[in-house]
Amino acid sequence: MSHPASLAEWKGLVDGLSIRGQAFVNGHYVDAASGETFECVNPADNSLITSVAATDSEDVDRAVAAARKAFDSGAWSRMAPAERKGVLYHFADLIRTHQDELAALETIDMGKPIADSTTIDIPGAARCIAWYAEAIDKVYDEVAPTSHDTIGLITREPVGVVACVVPWNFPLLMAAWKIAPALASGNSVILKPSEKSPLTALRIAELAVEAGIPEGVFNVLPGFGQTAGKALALHDDVDCIAFTGSTAVGKMILGYSGQSNMKRVWLECGGKSPNIVFADCPDLDAAAQAAGFGIFFNQGEMCSAASRLLVENSVREAFLERLVTFAGTMQPGNPLDPDTRMGAIVDQVQFDTVMGYIEKGREEGATLRVGGGRALEETNGWYVAPTIFDDVRNDMTIAQQEIFGPVLSTIAFDSAEEALAYGNDVRYGLAAAVWTRDINKAHRVAKGLRAGTVWINCYDAGDLTVPFGGFKESGNGRDKSLHALDKYVELKTTWIDLGA
Ligand code: NAD
Repeated sequence: MSHPASLAEWKGLVDGLSIRGQAFVNGHYVDAASGETFECVNPADNSLITSVAATDSEDVDRAVAAARKAFDSGAWSRMAPAERKGVLYHFADLIRTHQDELAALETIDMGKPIADSTTIDIPGAARCIAWYAEAIDKVYDEVAPTSHDTIGLITREPVGVVACVVPWNFPLLMAAWKIAPALASGNSVILKPSEKSPLTALRIAELAVEAGIPEGVFNVLPGFGQTAGKALALHDDVDCIAFTGSTAVGKMILGYSGQSNMKRVWLECGGKSPNIVFADCPDLDAAAQAAGFGIFFNQGEMCSAASRLLVENSVREAFLERLVTFAGTMQPGNPLDPDTRMGAIVDQVQFDTVMGYIEKGREEGATLRVGGGRALEETNGWYVAPTIFDDVRNDMTIAQQEIFGPVLSTIAFDSAEEALAYGNDVRYGLAAAVWTRDINKAHRVAKGLRAGTVWINCYDAGDLTVPFGGFKESGNGRDKSLHALDKYVELKTTWIDLGA
């Protein structure tokens, strides 16, 4: 099969797409009960893509009822894991088959480069679904080490109806990290994509049914957080909510659970990750590339962005020179152009937020080394030039708050103790990195960092075999790896007395 290879060919593919904008409930595309819609806009040029169903509490009631009915029927929840594996494999295959279409939808919906959608987001989502498919018929339950005249069984049961509420920065990939283990475990799922990026979630709904996932087991409700998202989180018949998004909304979700049925809440939230470069870093060029990629990849719209560069004073200037050169290679371009490495910011709201932080950095006395402005204004799109601040103090706003844009804050240090203190002096704890050829120092600092992932001499590396999630206000959940399965099951003890 040949794939589009130029901007013109990708534009041609987009022009030929028939785009789904309805919600998907109980195996069918439907309008919102209210008939309301919202506009889905391409951030590359601010053009209207389509109207999308704005679902609300009535749609949530319908989707939850369908999901519950499907769960109780046992068609999926009691299907043998080996059979579920086959269906999920097929689902992953269908996503691969439709890779170009899904990649194009992701790119026009949220502005990321097509080169990333085609190599990272869509294949990554398919790989994730296939990974949990492969895993699920190899996970055994347990027999407890009880006395001779009893048997203690510890079994895992699907938790029931799972709502997955996800953000817009990796729309399909973040959804896959949740729906794959949730579905593999036998749950019914309601996916609420971000109102800024609903298109791929809506498209894969029909692929799920085509793969053989029974009606009602996988539902997609596009809509706003304050309406559809909140109604899901408050619903008394939703058993678990798996959320990826901001820390502020994560805290609200905890509250909604407490106000309703104490549903299980899993939160994967924001970050302000320190990337610590010591003078004895094994390869300054490689470290500078990784630091640049860590903050400019995906327009900086990354929970794990390397947004705080902590660099040892003696190599600071040499490192920054390399970084500024790297920034020059990441200038924004049309997201549908296969040569583009940095695309558009998701919408004007996020663009204004990023520009506001850049202004704040200037006001608070940081030195702007490169960038700091809007790019490609003539397109009407929301592009920000890669931006590097130097002379940042760790207590400045741009060092403490998640910007979620291509803006780097450089903080200098003189000792490992100082680096560690700065590294941890933030409310987040999602990720961190350490660059040094001293193995003792690497491990000492890695152990001292309060973060869910610490990279040594690399940044943002990993695969599905390791968990991903945060300490502190970065959340309490872990996506990826076999650990993610624990979020979507209840443990049941069956105590059997053999004495009778
Ligand atoms: P957000 O919190 O604004 O929205 C996330 C989702 O929650 C969306 O679907 C939104 O509609 C919904 N939502 C909003 N308000 C709600 C409410 N009151 N009740 C229920 N649902 C509500 O976040 P965002 O701007 O979409 O995404 C960016 C954030 O996501 C960043 O903070 C980023 O760090 C985080 N993120 C974390 C990870 C991780 O794995 N830890 C991964 C990706 C993104």
